[in-house]
Amino acid sequence: MKKFEFRENKLTHQWVIIAPSRTKRPDVARGAEPECPFCPGAEAKTPKEVFRIGGGKPNQPGWKVRVVPNKFPFAPIHEVIIHSPKHDGNFLNYPTDHASKILRVYKARYLEHRDKGQVFIFHNHGIGAAESLPHDHTQLAVIPNDVILDVPRMSTPENIFYKSKHFSMFCPPDSQWPYEVWFAPLERGKQFGDAKDEELKDLAKNILKILKRLTKAIAPDFSFNFYIYHGGDWYLRVIPRIKQMGGFELGTGIFVNTVDPSLASRKLK
Ligand SMILES: [Zn+2]
Repeated sequence: MKKFEFRENKLTHQWVIIAPSRTKRPDVARGAEPECPFCPGAEAKTPKEVFRIGGGKPNQPGWKVRVVPNKFPFAPIHEVIIHSPKHDGNFLNYPTDHASKILRVYKARYLEHRDKGQVFIFHNHGIGAAESLPHDHTQLAVIPNDVILDVPRMSTPENIFYKSKHFSMFCPPDSQWPYEVWFAPLERGKQFGDAKDEELKDLAKNILKILKRLTKAIAPDFSFNFYIYHGGDWYLRVIPRIKQMGGFELGTGIFVNTVDPSLASRKLK
């Protein structure tokens, strides 16, 4: 049995991935998980690592950020970027310096794979955001180029509530989700892999700042996803998962957003 298979609807050109092996993933309920494979000391429980920053030997403790192939892949290249040795880490609590390190690892892996397909980097935090293992991590999946990804594109930022040296942060007027926030580089038209270290440091600072503001606007430890747009004119989009998708959204692809993005933008100012 193949681990996964991409299938296309020939009429709509929408794709699905059939990946039955992913049901073998460990029981993920918080508190009920088996021994965590991402904690220091458990390195032998993951496939052999492909990248790390920090000290120590490969597949031994000492790392600060560690990258391993996903044991339950749904794409030809599917990696897990383990954010830190801390089991209960959360992006919004990392020191800026560590958050920058994580972003630099994203970039290194993006560059490693960008000639092989569409490099999609995404993070799930919390049960409401389909987090698979509670130890904080991000995933990177390389999707074949002929698979059409239906991802929103950057337009001119509107409802900007904060501008830093290298980014503007805003809530697009056509936001699909309440309080979603986009981080747009001021230097437009580039791919994520082209971002300079100085920009990544600024982005790390901004993510921490805005996640803290979202915590105030939404709730402590809310579930969220973020992803980095894989193609030209990149952006990073944070999506708080404070509402479920209903039958209308699932059936039509049209989202009903219950928070006016201009109001969200004012609240995050
Ligand atoms: Zn852990």
